[in-house]
Amino acid sequence: MMRIIKYGNPILRMKAKPVTEFDEELRQTIDDMIETMQVGEGIGLAAPQVAISKAFFVIDNSLIEEGGQPEAIINPEILSSNGESIIEEGCLSVPEIREDVKRPDFIKVKYQDVDGKMHEEEFGGVRARVFQHELDHLKGIFFVDRLGAMKRKLLQKQLRQIAEEEMAERVEV
Ligand SMILES: [Zn+2]
Repeated sequence: MMRIIKYGNPILRMKAKPVTEFDEELRQTIDDMIETMQVGEGIGLAAPQVAISKAFFVIDNSLIEEGGQPEAIINPEILSSNGESIIEEGCLSVPEIREDVKRPDFIKVKYQDVDGKMHEEEFGGVRARVFQHELDHLKGIFFVDRLGAMKRKLLQKQLRQIAEEEMAERVEV
């Protein structure tokens, strides 16, 4: 199990670096992240959330569609998007907070898989939602940053508490 770092940890505000080596180390890291995501009962987990500031994340498609498998999305980019939906989001790095977030409904994306193979795809629904949430982590953005000013103000105390606990835990390590 990898430790999931929380809101307030500066690594989560960094812009993740592109992946250039598609090697055994990457494969092992992805396997560990998939296990950590599943134990944490998350539907997605981005590398910065386990303190690796690199541009990739994992999605658990088994929670999205019948017969789906966990997969790794590497060096992702959104090429275009359209529509709009409001869906409740949560985050393993922002425990106990769940809020409605407005985002595009459909996205056209490109990314590489664990072998470095390039993919271009268009999809909507939950997978599009998770993809956008995780891609935000690679840019140092949290879902709570996308809430209205009023909502953010209401969450301020709770977020500060998460950050304080995270910094205390960092010092112990
Ligand atoms: Zn998240």
